[in-house]
Amino acid sequence: IRTQGKTYYDSDNTPVRMLGTVLDITEFKRLQQQKDDFISVASHELKTPMTSLKASIQILDKLIKTNGSSEKITAFIEKANISLTKMQHLIESLLNVSKITAGQLALNKTYFKAGDMITESCDHVRMAGEHEIIVSGDTDIDIYADRSKIEQVIVNLVNNAVKYAPDSRTIIINIVRRTKTVKISVQDFGEGIAYDKIPHLFERYYRVDSTGVQYSGLGLGLYISAEIVERHGGKIGVNSEAGKGSTFWFTVPISN
Ligand code: ADP
Repeated sequence: IRTQGKTYYDSDNTPVRMLGTVLDITEFKRLQQQKDDFISVASHELKTPMTSLKASIQILDKLIKTNGSSEKITAFIEKANISLTKMQHLIESLLNVSKITAGQLALNKTYFKAGDMITESCDHVRMAGEHEIIVSGDTDIDIYADRSKIEQVIVNLVNNAVKYAPDSRTIIINIVRRTKTVKISVQDFGEGIAYDKIPHLFERYYRVDSTGVQYSGLGLGLYISAEIVERHGGKIGVNSEAGKGSTFWFTVPISN
């Protein structure tokens, strides 16, 4: 329980009255725990049917490619594939939340090229064909990190750039080499973020539009991204201006 307020004393210095607010954070913690537990169970339950659905679509895709099919069917399969990839990303990030809250997020580090990893992470946006993603800077640089986890950070930032910049089609990803790390930034030209909201963005379940009326979401993408980056010893942040757009950036090591 947190209390905040003012105590009034009489002439003998005996407290006579206290005025203030009491905030019960045990209730807040209990609700957080309930959300965490639900996410853990739901993501595990979703994973199995999702994997088999993805396998079926991939077989169908192969059959079509070898035996031929109408353009319409090919287009439907492609659409289904894009949606499935999005769902897989979502389930993967929910599973990671469970691992993070349980302190069990393991890293499997290898060397890989920054540019290749970024191109692969943006495939689903490119396939959807509605946004132009410009990748600039040191694309050939090697990173030493858990590739699938860093891909998840890129996916989260790029998906946000798509979601929170509905009227802009351009997203710029920049790779800059520093002494021992590489800095990757994802820039959008969307609505930006008010200054006073910025300190909360990386908190679990935080959303600027908490009612979800305008944009749907769980408020977990940036929390997961921050945890992944920090586990790699990197830093994450944002430069943003309301009405102009946002540049989310993070650093990762280039060697062990
Ligand atoms: P979600 O998008 O599911 O709400 P995130 O953790 O990814 O969760 O983001 C938290 C909040 O930060 C979002 O609800 C949104 O208000 C804000 N935000 C994130 N990325 C951007 C962006 N590129 N532009 C504007 N606001 C953003």
